[in-house]
Amino acid sequence: MKRVLFLFTALFLILIVSVPAQVHSEELIIYSARNEHLIEPLFTKYENETGVRIRFITDKAGPLIQRLKAESKRSSADILITVDAGNLWYAAGQGLLKSVNSSFLNERIPSHLRDPEGRWFGLSVRARTIVYSTDRVDPGELSTYEALGDPKWRKRLLLRTSKKVYNQSLVAMLIAQNGVEKTESIVRSWVENLAVAPFSNDTKVMEAILANQGDVGIVNTYYFGRLLRDNPELPLALFWPDQDGAGVHINVSGAGVVATSGKTDLAVGFLEWLASPDAQKVFAQANMEYPASPGVDVHPIVRSWGTFKPSTMNLAQAGELQTEAIKLMDRAGYR
Ligand code: FE
Repeated sequence: MKRVLFLFTALFLILIVSVPAQVHSEELIIYSARNEHLIEPLFTKYENETGVRIRFITDKAGPLIQRLKAESKRSSADILITVDAGNLWYAAGQGLLKSVNSSFLNERIPSHLRDPEGRWFGLSVRARTIVYSTDRVDPGELSTYEALGDPKWRKRLLLRTSKKVYNQSLVAMLIAQNGVEKTESIVRSWVENLAVAPFSNDTKVMEAILANQGDVGIVNTYYFGRLLRDNPELPLALFWPDQDGAGVHINVSGAGVVATSGKTDLAVGFLEWLASPDAQKVFAQANMEYPASPGVDVHPIVRSWGTFKPSTMNLAQAGELQTEAIKLMDRAGYR
């Protein structure tokens, strides 16, 4: 019995002393605004494949960026992961991300989905598109974002609040395409067509269409995917606008290396791994998004929506025009 106990004790000691030192010799610290349940499986996969340990915190983009600012040089963070190019652009502009020169990333991620200076890289693509009631709307009536301001949609349009960066980026894209004056009249015409006051999130927009409060709205595709997964018979469908023009407004979730990180090579290695086909598939499918890197399979629900022409405007522009977009929406009465 004593011998057995001794063996167990010895084994236990070997385990606690040697395993962490061998497996977790290297470590990355990640600040992530991507939901924990979407990103943690990838962290675990990376740890298992490489032996690099990942420690992470999750929060909304705003607080994470403020935290990086407050920590400044003392920050132990190596990577920032967040949604929307507007957030990534802002973090880069605050000097929180460093330029990375990786030919692998530059090859795998199309140039309009990454910062021209290499401070952030899109990793998944979300389309912000039109959703409509299949009971009350004929898709032949739909065409462009601008046409949602047509009088035929009076009291039929539903929007999410202008406070959300997703709509700020959408309006920034419209400014880049049409200029301030025309975009302002487009947004004014949307406001005139609103059936009810803007909602706090995209899901509520779709629920309101289902509740017959309105007939058309603008949402990110993955929110529609989540509803469809729970109820495949929903009387809602997506429409791809601007197919004869600039294309559907897209955005990314993405990542950059924190300016003060002392582990640039390790951090870049992780970003390159995230851009590899295997990880791209997991990254995109977990949230029913599109992979940033071409040639990777999408989720079956996403595939059922067919293909579309996306806007290829560089997403850094969405950031540059963000302040202008916020002011414009305020002038237009879009709350
Ligand atoms: Fe979202």
